[in-house]
Amino acid sequence: MKILVISDIHANLTAFKTVLEHAKKQWDYVWCLGDVVGYGPDPNECVDLLRSMPHLCLAGNHDWAALNRLDIRTFNPDARKAVQWTQETLRADVVAYLEALPTTFVIENYTLAHGSPREPVWEYILEPLVAGLNFSHFATDYCLVGHTHQPIIYEQIGEEEATAFPPKYDRPIKLNGHRQIINPGSVGQPRDANPKAAYAILDLENATFEHRRIPYDIEAVQERMRAHDMPERLIVRLEHGW
Ligand code: ZN
Repeated sequence: MKILVISDIHANLTAFKTVLEHAKKQWDYVWCLGDVVGYGPDPNECVDLLRSMPHLCLAGNHDWAALNRLDIRTFNPDARKAVQWTQETLRADVVAYLEALPTTFVIENYTLAHGSPREPVWEYILEPLVAGLNFSHFATDYCLVGHTHQPIIYEQIGEEEATAFPPKYDRPIKLNGHRQIINPGSVGQPRDANPKAAYAILDLENATFEHRRIPYDIEAVQERMRAHDMPERLIVRLEHGW
C-alpha cells in the first residue's frame, strides 16, 4: 500500500489539485496531517476534495481556530482576519467534519500528529533539540508531523538527541530502522523559501519515503484571495515561500 502524505493545505485548492494531478494514481490512501483550512480562499472546497478520497485526517491548530476552539487574540492581525473570514465562510457540514478530527493517530509503525507527538496541535519541531525531546513521546519507529511547513527528517541518535537531514527530492529513501520524525512540508503555504507545493509518498511494503515538490499556479490563488479582500501579506508570502 502506498500513502499520499500531505499537510497544511491551508485552503489552497489550486496547490491541492496540482499535488493530486502530480501524484496521479501512485497511492492508495491519503494521510493528511492537519491544517486543511486557514489562510487560503478555498476552505470548503479543500475539505470536499479531501473527503472525496480514502483518507484519514488530523486536527491542526488552524482547523481548531476555525472552530473557535482557540483564543485567536494571540494570532497576529493578518492571521486573525483570515481566521474570521474562514469562520464566516465554512459550511455547517464542513464544521462538523473538522470537529470530528482526532489529534493523533497510530497506524502500523507510524505515529501521526500535526505539530509533535508531545503536543499534537501546538508544538513546532523546528530544530533537532526539540525533535530529540519528542522521541520518548511515541512508541512506533516513525512519526509524521506537519505544522512548520518545512520538509525535513529528524533521526534519533541518543535517548533525547536527534540530528536533522534535509529532504532529498524525487527519490524514495529507505526507512532504515532508525527512529525518525519526518515532515512532508506544506501543500498550500510552504515556508522554506521554496514556493513549490510539497508532499510525500510513503510506501508501506518497501518502507520508503519520498519527498516531492511541484510548482502550481500561485497567481490564481492570489487572485481569489484579493477578491475576498484577504490580507496582502498573506497573499504575497505564497510567491516567496515563507
Ligand atoms: Zn499550518
